[in-house]
Parts: sequence; structure tokens; C-alpha cells
Amino acid sequence: MESWRDGARFLFVSPHPDDVELGCGGTIAGLVRAGKAAEIAVFTDGRLGTRDPAMPPAQLARIRAGEQAHAAQALGAGLRMLGLPDGGPHDYYALRDLAVALLRDVQPDWVFVCDPFLPYEAHSDHRVVGLAVSEAVLLSGLPHYAAGQGEPFSAQGIVYYFPRRATEHAPLDEQCLAARREAIACHRSQFGPDDRYLSRLEKQLARQGALAGAVAAEALHARRASALHLPEPQGEEG
Ligand SMILES: [Zn+2]
Repeated sequence: MESWRDGARFLFVSPHPDDVELGCGGTIAGLVRAGKAAEIAVFTDGRLGTRDPAMPPAQLARIRAGEQAHAAQALGAGLRMLGLPDGGPHDYYALRDLAVALLRDVQPDWVFVCDPFLPYEAHSDHRVVGLAVSEAVLLSGLPHYAAGQGEPFSAQGIVYYFPRRATEHAPLDEQCLAARREAIACHRSQFGPDDRYLSRLEKQLARQGALAGAVAAEALHARRASALHLPEPQGEEG
């Protein structure tokens, strides 16, 4: 079966600025280095991402857009900021339409997004964006769905970052790990120099790397589009 690694075009969907860098930044850098096309789409503007009451949300959204632009540049990826309000409220079906339009426009072979099926994910931006993008992969190729809004297009499947259950640990070399760190460091409004979450995440990446025989590895869960709806029949074909 063809792996996502064989794809030529990739779309990386992030609910907020910084999610894709944290989830799969090293993998993005590796794909770009291999000559693949990578586009990052950030759905919300991240305006709530502060504990500072003196920071105006609109200003934070502008700051984070700038940080995200630098991060995309560090990874060699294109960038689209969709500008939805951080924290919602979101109309699920409007979000799904947006995701279908995005897929038809970018035409990626594979789409990376956060896993919406985490049992304890409380953040609705992550649940709803992950689910809308997953369903959009099923629907974007149907000619009667949003007819007249872009050419029908079907991606081969989804790769979930921050997965509930990893199907693989994607190995990173030193160069990809450095690009990942550089991209994450661009999000200055979110992470100070000694951020505890980041250092724990780095340790986890190193443990996963040991499993993959590499300096670090990112946990991923790849599913073909046909494995996003109804259980797959078990047993032999024919
Ligand atoms: Zn997020």
C-alpha cells in the first residue's frame, strides 16, 4: 500500500498558531527537504492565548500571525491564516465547507491534522477542526457536495498528529529536529526560554526516537480515506 511518504503535496492543518509545529514540525521540515510541497493552514487566530489581561486580543492575533509566518518560513512551508475566532463559537458545517474548499484548492495527497478522537481533548477548536477536516476528506471528492465551489478532489488520507494511538514514530534527523525547534521558538508569545511543556515534549520525542532508531521521532497515525468511515471488513479479500 502506498504510504503518505510517497505523496508530493501535503496540507498541514492547525487549529491555532503553533499546533502543527508542536505536533509534526520535524516531519514538515523533512518532507520539504525531500522536495515535497507543504502548505500550512491555521484555522483560528489564537487571540485567546494569553494570561495577560492587558494584552488586547486583536493585538495578540496580529502578533501570532507574525510568529506563525516566521515558523512556516523556518519549515519551508506555505501558509494560509483562515482567521476564525479562537475558542469559537464555530458552526461545524461552515467549518466543514471551509475545509472542503481548502482541500479542493490545495489538492494535497495527504492531510495532516490533530487527532479529534482523543478521549480527553477538552478544547473544542481541536475537536471540531480535526473532525471537520477528517469529514472534508470524505466529502471533497463528491461532485454534488458544494457543487460549483471548486473542482471535486479526493486526498488519499489523513495523518493525525498528537494521535490517540500512534501507528508510527516518524524519525527525525538532527537537521529536521533543528528546524522543528526553530519553528517552535518563533512562537515567542506562547513559549518562554525554559518552557516546561516544551522540555517534556522534547524528552518524549527523544524516547520515541529511540524506538525509531533516530535522535527524535514524532508520533503519527495515518489512515487512508477509506478507513475514515464504517469499520473495514475483516478477513481475506476475494
Ligand atoms: Zn491548539
